[in-house]
Amino acid sequence: MPELPEVEAARAVLQRHVMGARIVRVADIDTYVCRPHSASELAHALVGRTIVSAHRKGKLIWCETSLPGGDDGHLRISIHLGMGGRIVITDESGRPVDEGDSTYGRAGPYRPGWDRFTAVLSKGLVIRLVDKRRLGRVRLDPDLDALGPDALTVDLVTLRRSLEGSRMAIKARLLDQATISGIGNLIADETLWQSAIPPHLASSALTSEQVTTLHRKLKQTLRSALKANGSDTGTIIAQRHANGHCPRCGARMAHETVGGRSTWYCSREQA
Ligand SMILES: [Zn+2]
Repeated sequence: MPELPEVEAARAVLQRHVMGARIVRVADIDTYVCRPHSASELAHALVGRTIVSAHRKGKLIWCETSLPGGDDGHLRISIHLGMGGRIVITDESGRPVDEGDSTYGRAGPYRPGWDRFTAVLSKGLVIRLVDKRRLGRVRLDPDLDALGPDALTVDLVTLRRSLEGSRMAIKARLLDQATISGIGNLIADETLWQSAIPPHLASSALTSEQVTTLHRKLKQTLRSALKANGSDTGTIIAQRHANGHCPRCGARMAHETVGGRSTWYCSREQA
């Protein structure tokens, strides 16, 4: 599933190829993925606009667009990759130009058929949201305030404040995108293991020292995954199975469901 590192890799694909390009045509619109917008609404809003920048907050990507002259204010179009979407740039014949650098993005070559949204650009390139599971979303003017601060840039004071008032299990709290945005299941398990914090511990029960450690390890985990191009590159990920052992102390890996998600942790250090 795309987490912050995969989404950042997808944003970088847009950054590399589509800045300054004009949207010529909007096609292959899946109205479920693009709800509540109709196909004609998206095309009417976007055709003729120029893409001026590509941003990310948590797992949400958005582009700022402007009309020639640029005096109408910016219109944002956002793309959420859902549980399995990715962004691919192709030429107009459908030949891939850039599928991104994440290990997730390299899971298989681009094949037509799972396009949910495509925008044909003046540069002869096409932006494609490729999403077999149809859990991605394309929106105009997304509500960015619904997302908590980005996990890569959240400061210690903000993290501390968002944890101290909650009795929710720390793993579930980290996954709550309205609290902190960008963390998915693998980054959460890796960060908690790196911090030696039990995933089921109530957020408000963390000591001040544990929150400081969590903040530091979260940044390290994200930076490492960004560098290695995938959330699946963490130290603990290969041990997330019934015969797995903690790479640090050798104890058996334990499993439970926390916040509705499959959770693996060290049975000794995170008990
Ligand atoms: Zn251990």
